[in-house]
Amino acid sequence: MEIACLDLEGVLVPEIWIAFAEATGIESLRATTRDIPDYDVLMKQRLRILDEHGLKLSDIQQVISTLKPLDGAVEFIDWLRERFQVVILSDTFYEFSQPLMRQLGFPTLLCHKLIVDDNDRVVDYQLRQKDPKRQSVIALKSLYYRVIAAGDSYNDTTMLSEAHAGILFHAPDNVIQEFPQFPAVHTFAELKQEFIKASNRKLAL
Ligand SMILES: [Mg+2]
Repeated sequence: MEIACLDLEGVLVPEIWIAFAEATGIESLRATTRDIPDYDVLMKQRLRILDEHGLKLSDIQQVISTLKPLDGAVEFIDWLRERFQVVILSDTFYEFSQPLMRQLGFPTLLCHKLIVDDNDRVVDYQLRQKDPKRQSVIALKSLYYRVIAAGDSYNDTTMLSEAHAGILFHAPDNVIQEFPQFPAVHTFAELKQEFIKASNRKLAL
């Protein structure tokens, strides 16, 4: 039995915080794990910036509701779900993901949650667990699934390493160079081919 694990942001949908930074013009919200590798430091900074600008959860959700999946993503995930069980492993939050997941047909999503007070202020966040993407792959392997995973960034590399096959998709050059063990592709057509190659079944396009 085979299961496909996909990252969300940068693979199927745009980077949510970058889209929000662009919509609000707040440059410092553009920082991602590429700039600040410690996710806790990064999130604390984001929450502080939200407070400084008086921005609430609904302000972020309003921007997210205008976002669309990346070109070809809907067709890709439909293709993938006909051939694999698919799980999205993401470092986003359930409170953000709803409008985008609706457009993707609500695939299974494992991610984190925000803690919001009565005034809609984001006061904290709760990570599902430490190293969640890798732990999810370990768990699926314990169920005797063969795991093929694809992601675009540093926070995906432990998932890709733990999987039986890992694929870099839309990754920046520095990630591709640092992790030459993973095939790196940039279009959904190539990504389909990589999933076919990685599968132990005879799959057709
Ligand atoms: Mg990503």
